[in-house]
Amino acid sequence: MDLVWNLTDRYGPRLTNSPQFREAGDWAVGQLKEWGLANVKLEPWPTKDVPSGAIPGWQVKGYSGAMIAPSYMPIIGVPIAWTKGTDGPVTGEVATATIDTQADMDKYHGKLKGKIVFTAPLAELPFPSAPLASRYTKEQLEELETELIPSGRGGRGGAAGVGRGGFAALAAMTPEERTAFQEKQRNFWKDEGVLLTVTASARGESGTLFGGGAARRGDPTQNTPSVSITAEHYNRILRLVERNVPVKLQFDIKTEFDNNTESFNVIAEIPGTTKPNEVVLVGAHFDSWHYGTGATDNAAGSAVAMEVMRILKSLNLKMDRTVRLGLWGGEEEGLLGSAAYVKQHFADPETMKPTAEHDNFSGYFNIDNGTGRIRGIYLQGNEMMRPIFEAWFAPLKDMTPGAITIRDTGGTDHQSFDRVGLPGFQFVQDQMDYNTRTHHSNMDVYDRVQPQDMAQMAVIEAMFVYNAATRPEKLPRKDLPAAQPAAGGRGGRGGGRGGN
Ligand SMILES: [Zn+2]
Repeated sequence: MDLVWNLTDRYGPRLTNSPQFREAGDWAVGQLKEWGLANVKLEPWPTKDVPSGAIPGWQVKGYSGAMIAPSYMPIIGVPIAWTKGTDGPVTGEVATATIDTQADMDKYHGKLKGKIVFTAPLAELPFPSAPLASRYTKEQLEELETELIPSGRGGRGGAAGVGRGGFAALAAMTPEERTAFQEKQRNFWKDEGVLLTVTASARGESGTLFGGGAARRGDPTQNTPSVSITAEHYNRILRLVERNVPVKLQFDIKTEFDNNTESFNVIAEIPGTTKPNEVVLVGAHFDSWHYGTGATDNAAGSAVAMEVMRILKSLNLKMDRTVRLGLWGGEEEGLLGSAAYVKQHFADPETMKPTAEHDNFSGYFNIDNGTGRIRGIYLQGNEMMRPIFEAWFAPLKDMTPGAITIRDTGGTDHQSFDRVGLPGFQFVQDQMDYNTRTHHSNMDVYDRVQPQDMAQMAVIEAMFVYNAATRPEKLPRKDLPAAQPAAGGRGGRGGGRGGN
């Protein structure tokens, strides 16, 4: 939890390439060196060639938002990532405009100048009858275990991405059409003289807001400022507008860009004793969104992976293979840091020419499903791993049921390894309040991380890594995949709509 505190309260949030991301990276390097780990470094990777555009440094330096007529109401909100500021306080009346099509643009042309535009209809807030947080039941785990056919259903949907209003239309487009349309849409707000755009998150209530994507494409310094606000405030304002009560809002948003588009992954090692060239990798993504402090997503996974290294190092265990830590940047922008690492070290999925490092790789273990404890593991379609994981879970049955499912899970960094035929695994974790409260939300903060669950995860993952580093053979692999040409490859990662 001390590691979590540093990553959240102290340095977070860690939006990729933001000043806070870099400060946290420097802190992690210092901490890992203090533990006596080897080859500790920030391994750089460039974002200038990323298909969705280079990632500049960006941070929020100030935000205030309020309704000032018909009466005062402070608005809970957060500027959208990489949005530009308002250049001082701006005051305007509210207009509503959902831009899904060219016809929408024609309809609203000339009517939005100087307005603050709400871009989606009323947020639906059904009475929350389900518990806010939950753990897997015995029955749910059994259902997972008895599945026969790998499926991607375990993956969490890309919450970051498109706004509610445009979702259906955008979802029907190809990635190329979507990019072209969104560029047109961005220019539309600017060309029409809109002061700023406002969205409510598709889920979340009681003051929680879930972030609505990023304004990074094109030249973000020229995009119309945009803010995501909590649904109840959004709805009150819209209801006033619908009943023709004059509403005035005031926003003051300060954001700051910098030109450093080079990112990094945090690397550290415990060298192997007899097979130092063979590698077992443990990791998580280090970056986060900026709505909260990136606590369950994914300071939790990063802290667990760091703690695994601390445990193994402090016990001074002799392990045949090198155990390496990888904390990835750019995951939220499409698994970019782990993909860059895999491409540089193991194989480019577009050409599939494996390196010597690829031959020497054993396996990768990832944590990125929040604070919930480990209840099992996804085989990722690799049935050969079942007896191995069964044996590894056997002595841990007092800590976890150790459910093993053939299911694939997606949306996070083990996929970068899986794509080039390397064993990469994500654990089955209790959901807790990940989907209802914390994942990509303004309430993803230290308090939502559960100390007992964190300790359990670190112990189990340390055991798994130790076992992988000391078993006679490397982990068995699925067949080497065929080369995946660029367009298909990007589509397979969700078109850069963001990671888990
Ligand atoms: Zn994540």
